[in-house]
Amino acid sequence: MKKRIVIVGGVAGGATCAARLRRLDENAEILILDRGQYVSFANCGLPYYVGNVIHDEAKLLLATPDLFRERFNIEVRTRSEVTGIDRGTSTVTVRDLETGREYIEPYDALVLSPGAAPVFPPLPGINLPGIFTLRTIPNSRQIREWIEHRKPRRAVVVGGGFIGLEMAENLAHRGISVTIVEMADQLMPPFDPEMAEYMREHLIARGVRLHLGDAVAGFERSGNDGLLVLTKAEVTFEADLVVFSIGVRPETEIARKAGLEIGEHGGICVDSRMRTSDSRIWAVGDAVEVRNRVTGSWELVPLAGPANRQGRVAAETICGRDTDFEGVFATAVCGSFGFTAALTGTTEKALRSAGITEFQSIYLHPNHHVPYYPGAKRMHMKLLFRTPDGLVLGAQAVGEAGVERRIDVIAAAMQMKATVYDLEAMELCYAPQYGAAKDPVNLAGMIAANVLRGDMELAPWRELDDTGAFLIDVREPHEFRRDSVDGAINIPLGQLRARLHELPRDREIWICCEVGQRAYYACRILVQHGLRVRNLSGGYQTYRVLNPVA
Ligand code: FAD
Repeated sequence: MKKRIVIVGGVAGGATCAARLRRLDENAEILILDRGQYVSFANCGLPYYVGNVIHDEAKLLLATPDLFRERFNIEVRTRSEVTGIDRGTSTVTVRDLETGREYIEPYDALVLSPGAAPVFPPLPGINLPGIFTLRTIPNSRQIREWIEHRKPRRAVVVGGGFIGLEMAENLAHRGISVTIVEMADQLMPPFDPEMAEYMREHLIARGVRLHLGDAVAGFERSGNDGLLVLTKAEVTFEADLVVFSIGVRPETEIARKAGLEIGEHGGICVDSRMRTSDSRIWAVGDAVEVRNRVTGSWELVPLAGPANRQGRVAAETICGRDTDFEGVFATAVCGSFGFTAALTGTTEKALRSAGITEFQSIYLHPNHHVPYYPGAKRMHMKLLFRTPDGLVLGAQAVGEAGVERRIDVIAAAMQMKATVYDLEAMELCYAPQYGAAKDPVNLAGMIAANVLRGDMELAPWRELDDTGAFLIDVREPHEFRRDSVDGAINIPLGQLRARLHELPRDREIWICCEVGQRAYYACRILVQHGLRVRNLSGGYQTYRVLNPVA
């Protein structure tokens, strides 16, 4: 008998599921219902359409209902909202948004991929003209029209997460001066704060105004067309355009009403086959909670890659295959003003808040390719690994070039349960314009492996003030004069062997340099002379971002 599969939501998760279903079952009847005007559009491209980097709206449409019909024999009904699920009769109620007509559609299998809606809190004045969110093509068209007709000079972007940063860049690309207001004390809340600090510095250097650690409290009209953005700390910003991007909330209304199990973060609960608490209903994408493969906790991870993979897993299960969705490492990347930030796995703050203490972190600041080849850019990396076995738990990297490649390599390695020893030994491609014979990924593995093998003990910068250690800085005098840590004594690496007598044997010695490399060499010298030494992780480069100047 023909199977009838109804899919709610026809973008990332839903469209992928439908296409995979057809490849596995030529006979199934497949119906996609989407309340929007479009299916299978590139939500991730919307900021760039606003910025006019993508000029042609049609380029955002990855597939149309006609293509679904002709190529896949899949029926797509747009402007068709599913308002209810009757699990007893295995039917959904659909409202035709053009005519208002309601009707019933039966299903053998139902897939929910309704996504997540931008958070839009009921703040005073939030519905004033000129305040936008960004989720759909019509949203981006409205912002474009506002820019073209009103010619805004100043924009406030509320929220300094990935979409906020992309919007800031794209609004600046339209010649608009941008202020970002972010409630947290840092940009890019998924990152550890010291890693996000590099992005803060970069945006300030590019002329973006940042207001961190304060939430927007409301909006007022100003003059004819302007807006005042008011914050809880009673700071006011003038704006001609506001983009609200403070996160998303899973769309679970129909799932809740149907009595499907909802998790503690508000997403639909699914098993590893993407099946909900009802064995004939699957759910995928931003609307579901997924298991974090490092911490084991259930989380909301609204990213396109997982949504696509989950759509595929749901299709395979519906067609009787044994395919599991293993969970996520939440691997993500964001670019803004020529600066890239990427991460995979967990962060130090996530580990600490999960109560996990058996880990260590290292910092490194390598060039993205060999320094002698023109155009080398320094990147900044942080690697987290489990102690004592060295399993890689997470990595973050930021910089102007080469960042996403290193995080992708580490993400792939983590999915194969790599340890830092695997990163150390990993064979990666190299030529001068692309990398180094010791790639940053290898270097991260080597530094971490040195720590685990006991070749180098690390000292955390955060404990510097409480330590009774003897602090030496092994950089050259001109570097030491430029900036140094209070109390440090300058003994350049080249003089260390000759000045051993200046070092105490009854105290631990903490060593710093610019990025940690010379301090490592110093550690090895001193350890072999019987001294107790530790390397201040990541050197002065890390110290600077741990102690940012506001
Ligand atoms: P969506 O793609 O949101 O699709 C859900 C669809 O369901 C919508 O069309 C909606 O209209 C429809 N729907 C909802 N309820 C109903 C209903 N009751 N009846 C009928 N239809 C319904 N992720 C990345 O990994 N990288 C990026 O760079 C990136 N950039 C992004 C930029 C923007 C501006 C946005 C908005 C998102 C971005 N994302 C990015 C996130 C990514 O787009 C989502 O994770 C992904 O689209 C989720 O897929 P989904 O199928 O769960 O939901």
